[in-house]
Amino acid sequence: MTQAFDIIIVGAGMVGAALATGLGQQGIKVCLIDKATPADFDPHASPDIRVSALSAGSERYLQSLGAWHAILAMRATPYRRLAVWDDTPHPLSKLLPGSLTEVEFSATDLGASHLGHIVENSITQNALWQTVKREPDVALMTGQGINTLDQSADQATITLEDGTELSAQLIIGADGALSKVRSLAGIGVTRDQYEQQAMVMSIRYRGQPEDITWQGFYPSGPRAFLPLHSAGDPFPGETWGSLVWYDCPARLAQLKALSDDQLMAEIRTAFPARLPQLTHIDAKASFPIARQHAKQYVLNRVVLAGDAAHTINPLAGQGVNLGFQDAQCLQGLIKEARRSGDDLANPRWLAQYEHQRRPANRRMMLAMDLFYHLFSNQIPPVHLARNLGLGAARALPFARNRVARYAMGLDEQLPRPVQQILNRLPGLNRI
Ligand SMILES: Cc1cc2nc3c(=O)[nH]c(=O)nc-3n(C[C@H](O)[C@H](O)[C@H](O)COP(=O)(O)OP(=O)(O)OC[C@H]3O[C@@H](n4cnc5c(N)ncnc54)[C@H](O)[C@@H]3O)c2cc1C
Repeated sequence: MTQAFDIIIVGAGMVGAALATGLGQQGIKVCLIDKATPADFDPHASPDIRVSALSAGSERYLQSLGAWHAILAMRATPYRRLAVWDDTPHPLSKLLPGSLTEVEFSATDLGASHLGHIVENSITQNALWQTVKREPDVALMTGQGINTLDQSADQATITLEDGTELSAQLIIGADGALSKVRSLAGIGVTRDQYEQQAMVMSIRYRGQPEDITWQGFYPSGPRAFLPLHSAGDPFPGETWGSLVWYDCPARLAQLKALSDDQLMAEIRTAFPARLPQLTHIDAKASFPIARQHAKQYVLNRVVLAGDAAHTINPLAGQGVNLGFQDAQCLQGLIKEARRSGDDLANPRWLAQYEHQRRPANRRMMLAMDLFYHLFSNQIPPVHLARNLGLGAARALPFARNRVARYAMGLDEQLPRPVQQILNRLPGLNRI
């Protein structure tokens, strides 16, 4: 027998679970499916190696869903300062004052209490599963993925791996970068693999929790530090943190093959002196990075959100923040469709989703590409241009802070002149 719902969401990661909560709170009958189940939170366990810098905008959204206090009750580290600098040695660097090559953003300058929080992905997902489970209109089905997806004039049908058949007016694919919903619906992607990969490491260091996250740009790619919580009683005087080392795949493979002591020595040489004194490497993993964009977000009764719709270079940590913006937008439009008595897959509403989210996501992808190419380029004029850019960012605090407020989710829109510049960049229509 087919079980009928208003909406089926495939993928209960951070984005899918947020959407299910929000839609459930609107009284929409949702079935949320995930092939996996997140582990329960263990306060004594080492941190999840996957962490995200959640913006103030994401924090507001998670608050509205009732998940934020659960995140804070588990673990979240606020950061109040963010530093970015260029550390690529070049003859022209000598001609420029050192102060030109570094910019620091602070919550105080932006009129905010903090810039964001670093949160382990499993904690955000865990908190959202708690909110999902409180919604009587949301059915959570775990342990299996989907096999088939069919669309007809008045409904869409999904078959699970065990043969269970489910139907709904709308199917939301929130099943990540390799989305099966997207491929079953026949939606293609444009994809560019970057030459760099990211190696993420969970580390402990001697000292107190920091309130700064920083990223230096080196010839082979950025190196970043993200602050985490105190390591507590088992490791007195120590704190957890996360390091990200971007480099070519061959170099990262070499680093991953080293013993922890050898890797620690490499980190000490490669990272800047401001890195606190490391005591332990707990875990390491490397990720290929790619810019990927679905050719359309909506096809008949299927709609994509989060990484299923777009993946972005993580160098400014915007991936899940964009996914939460998709979720919020979609949730609002579905509410309007329901209020108007429309079919929830009515193109009148879904076209607005594509219209609002695609250009916004594309702008952020393009901005990240611009950073990537600008900072991995050693041609003298480009080197000079980016240092002048950093210098201008120092010299023009108003403009700099407006852009930063947008990136941190404090403001909803980029300043108009910046939007216009990004809209005019060549390649915008290609992605
Ligand atoms: C190195 C690195 C650093 C990053 N840092 C940041 C950062 O600082 N800030 C930030 O905002 N973003 C960051 N990101 C990006 C961020 O991790 C992703 O954007 C985010 O995880 C996407 O969430 P999602 O819910 O869309 O997808 P996912 O997290 O991929 O969740 C998809 C869910 O779908 C389920 N699923 C998959 N296939 C199926 C199926 N066939 N059937 C049923 N269920 C299925 C999975 O089990 C999973 O639960 C980073 C990414 C990388 C690689």
